[in-house]
Amino acid sequence: MNSRYYGRQCDCACATHESPNILSVWLHLTERCNLRCAYCYLPHSRSDMSLETGYAAADAAFRSAVNHGYDEILFKYAGGEPLLCVENMSKLHRYAQTLAKKHNILIDGVVLSNGTLLTPEIIEQLSLLNLRLMISLDGIGTFHDCQRYYPDGQGSFDAVSKATDLAMSYHLIPDISVTISGRNIAGLPELTAWLSERNLPFSFNFYRENNRSASEKDLRLEEDKFIKGLLSAYKVIESHLNQRILSFPLADHADFGIPHLRPCSVGHSYLVFDHQGHVAKCQMDMGNVITDIFHADPLSQIRIRSNGIQNISVDEKEECQECQWRYWCAGGCPLLTYRATGYFNRKSPNCNIYKAIYSEIARLKELPISP
Ligand code: SF4
Ligand code: SF4
Repeated sequence: MNSRYYGRQCDCACATHESPNILSVWLHLTERCNLRCAYCYLPHSRSDMSLETGYAAADAAFRSAVNHGYDEILFKYAGGEPLLCVENMSKLHRYAQTLAKKHNILIDGVVLSNGTLLTPEIIEQLSLLNLRLMISLDGIGTFHDCQRYYPDGQGSFDAVSKATDLAMSYHLIPDISVTISGRNIAGLPELTAWLSERNLPFSFNFYRENNRSASEKDLRLEEDKFIKGLLSAYKVIESHLNQRILSFPLADHADFGIPHLRPCSVGHSYLVFDHQGHVAKCQMDMGNVITDIFHADPLSQIRIRSNGIQNISVDEKEECQECQWRYWCAGGCPLLTYRATGYFNRKSPNCNIYKAIYSEIARLKELPISP
């Protein structure tokens, strides 16, 4: 494959696929959260990003965007739970909109929320600010509750399903982010039917183990069980087939829209600002600080610094060279691969799963589609 390739906007909570003209910016508004999900990688301290730090992060993002000639910035408002800081988030996005006008750069924004704190007032505020909403929903009833619960152990499914209905009643259609693990895979077909019947956009993301979740061994992906669950979910998708569903990310970072060389934009067109103003390459590796909000061009540091994640091209992964899926898989999440193998240039530890499901996705995408 030559060096001319394209990216597209990916709606999953990770970085977007690499795009020549969109800079993705993760703003980690708070360490606080009202839930204690089984796979969460945060320490749950009580610290928030101050407005001053947030404004400086937006300034820094625009400095890099201008320096590198980006046409658009996508802000991802995240945490912890960003709706715990809704006033600061609104002020920050208004500030970013002002900077966008000044620099003649397009701006997009999405709030990555657990959904449980959503109210009509917040929905109106998001709509006024043109902010999109992504809600995490991992299953129906106990399949969600077993991995997304409050500190007292009570599950959050009822609150999340009500929030989804509430948003839809105000014509704010949330993107649903589904984290699939060994614990909830059996519930994936039922969830897929629920989402498809509501015509909700969704993405399937695979659980990534981290230091805090390592003791929860049943979250790990058992290949056979996992493949079976995904193939059953694709059967449900087949019975609800339409053009929209087929455009959703149906297998972790695999992008069947356009061939690509990297699974995400980490290390190239992605900035992660933590609540203290440090800059990192990936939200799951925030401890690996590259620079801070005061640098004249933080993105240049992200690109040149060799510490932290090395998001190399799939063309540089020897084990992937003969694989027919390499420009759709792009070698998988580099952080996951490094944690599993100690190297960035190896194939993904999920390789067998990808190979077992991709042909089914490819078949679905070629099926005749009802209008
Ligand atoms: S499916 Fe496996 S071999 Fe193929 S590109 Fe992905 S990680 Fe590499
Ligand atoms: S490195 Fe992995 S976890 Fe980080 S944004 Fe990329 S795909 Fe997601």
